[in-house]
Amino acid sequence: MLMVVIMCATTLYQSYRQTRLSAVANASNVTLIAQRAISRNMEVLSLSLDTLAYRYQHPLGGRRLDDAQRYAYLFGSTANVSHIAVMAVIDASGTVQASSRRRQGDPAPNYGDRSYFLAHRDSTAVGLYVSKPILANLANAGHDVRVVVLSKRLFNQDGSFGGIVVMALDLSYFRELFEGLSLGADGVISLYSDDGVAYMRVPFSEQVIGRDLSNSANFQRIQSALQHEEGSFFARAHSDGVERLYTFRRIPDSPLILFVGYAEQAIFKSWYKTLYAVILSLFIFGLLSAYLLSHVRQELRRRVATERRLEELALTDGLTGLLNRRALDEALQAAWERCRRNLNSTFSVLFIDVDHFKPYNDTYGHKLGDTVLQEVARTISENLPRHTDCAGRYGGEEFVVLLELTDAEGARLMAQRLCDAVYSRLIVHASSPLRVVTISVGVATLQRAHHRRVEDVLNAADAALYQAKRDGRNTVRVSAMD
Ligand code: GH3
Ligand code: MG
Ligand code: MG
Repeated sequence: MLMVVIMCATTLYQSYRQTRLSAVANASNVTLIAQRAISRNMEVLSLSLDTLAYRYQHPLGGRRLDDAQRYAYLFGSTANVSHIAVMAVIDASGTVQASSRRRQGDPAPNYGDRSYFLAHRDSTAVGLYVSKPILANLANAGHDVRVVVLSKRLFNQDGSFGGIVVMALDLSYFRELFEGLSLGADGVISLYSDDGVAYMRVPFSEQVIGRDLSNSANFQRIQSALQHEEGSFFARAHSDGVERLYTFRRIPDSPLILFVGYAEQAIFKSWYKTLYAVILSLFIFGLLSAYLLSHVRQELRRRVATERRLEELALTDGLTGLLNRRALDEALQAAWERCRRNLNSTFSVLFIDVDHFKPYNDTYGHKLGDTVLQEVARTISENLPRHTDCAGRYGGEEFVVLLELTDAEGARLMAQRLCDAVYSRLIVHASSPLRVVTISVGVATLQRAHHRRVEDVLNAADAALYQAKRDGRNTVRVSAMD
C-alpha cells in the first residue's frame, strides 16, 4: 500500500513539474510577443517625433507656407494615426508653437512646468521620454483621455535647449493590444513602469490606471526579480486574491515592464483533476485492501481454529475424551524410546476392562452403556495425579493407562486406587454379582530382560488382566514377571 502511495505521489509530482514548466514557457512566449509589438510601435512613434523635429527645424527651403500647408508639412498623416491623441512642438520657454490639435486663433498654452518638458530642459541625454499616465483634457476631444506622453529634445544649432517635440499616445492602444491576447480564466496582462505606476491592465480596470503601486507588498516582494530583463514568479494578487504565475519582460529603452499572469487554477486545472482522481482511487483501493485484509485474517483465524480442533479430534476418543488408540500407541512408543535411551528410566502400563459390561448393555441399553464408559473414563483421569500420566481408550470398554517413571509397586497402588474409585461411584448394575459397575486392572512394568517391544509390556498387562478376571473381577493383578 505504501509503495502504491509513493509511486502515485512521484508520478503526480513529475506531472506537476511538467505542467508548471510548460506554463512558464507558454507565458513567456506570450510576454515576448506582446513586448515585441509594443517595442515596434514605440520605434515607429519615436521616428515620427524625429520627423516632426526635423521638419520643424528645416522649414522647406525658406518658402513661406500658409497655415494649412505648414500643418500638413509638420504633421502629415501621422497625426491621423489612431491612438495618437496629439502631436506638438513646444519651444524652449514651454509655449506650444505648433499642435496637431490647436485651432487657428486659440491662445498658445504653456507646458513649461511639465515633467516631459523639464526632463529634456535639464538633460541632453534623455532620448525618448515616457511620461507617467496623464489624464489629458484635449480640445475638441469631447472628454478626458488617458494618455502617455512621449517627448524628445530639440537642439539649437549651438547644442543648447531648443524646446521639445511631444506626442500623446492614448492608453487605449495598450488596451486593444492586450485584449487581443487570450489568457484563459482569470488571466491578466498589465503594463507598469519600473517604479510601480500602472499604465494598463486587462481585464480593464479604470481605477488601476495611473496608480502608484510601488508601496504594495507584492511590488516590494518582486523588486529583486525586476532587476532582470525577464523572469517569472508565483504571487497572489492583492486586487482579486487570485494566485497567478506571472512572467515579466522589460520594454527596451523605456521604463516600462510588461506582466502576463496566468491563474494557477487554470494552469493546474487538469492536473488537479488527476490529483482528485488519484486520491479517490487510492481511497477506494485502501478501503478495499482493508476489507480484503480483514476478511483474509478472519478466514485464517477460522482455519487455524478448525485445524486445532481437527488435531484434537485426531488424538482423542470421541466418546470419552481420553487419548484414542492411535495417540495411545504413539505415547507408548515414545515412552519405550525414552527408556531405551535412559537406562535408569522405566514405565508401567495398566490394562483396564469394565466388568460384566455386555450384560449392562443388555439390561440398560447401549446409550446408558455409553454414559457409564464416560463416567469410568472421567474417574480414571481424575485419579491420575501426575501430568506425565496419560489414559487412552484401547477399544470397546477397555482402557490403558501409561504411568511414566513408575515401578511395579507404584503401578499396583495406582491400579488399586482406580479400582476403588470406580467402585465407590456406586453405579447401579443389577445384572452384576456386585450390583455396581466395577473394573479389573492388569499391571505390567517394563522388564528390560524380557520385553523386546512395547507391545510385550502391553501383552503382559493384558495377561495380568486376564488373571484378575479369573480371580473374580473388581481386582488388580500384577504381571507374573514383575
Ligand atoms: P467381562 O467382565 O469378562 O469383561 O465381561 P464383559 O461383558 O465386559 O465382556 P465382553 O468383552 O464379552 O463384552 C464387552 C461388551 O462391551 C460388548 C459390547 O456390548 C460392549 N461395548 C463395547 N464397546 C462399547 C461401546 O462403545 N459402548 C457400549 N455401550 N458398549 C460397548
Ligand atoms: Mg472386554
Ligand atoms: Mg468387560
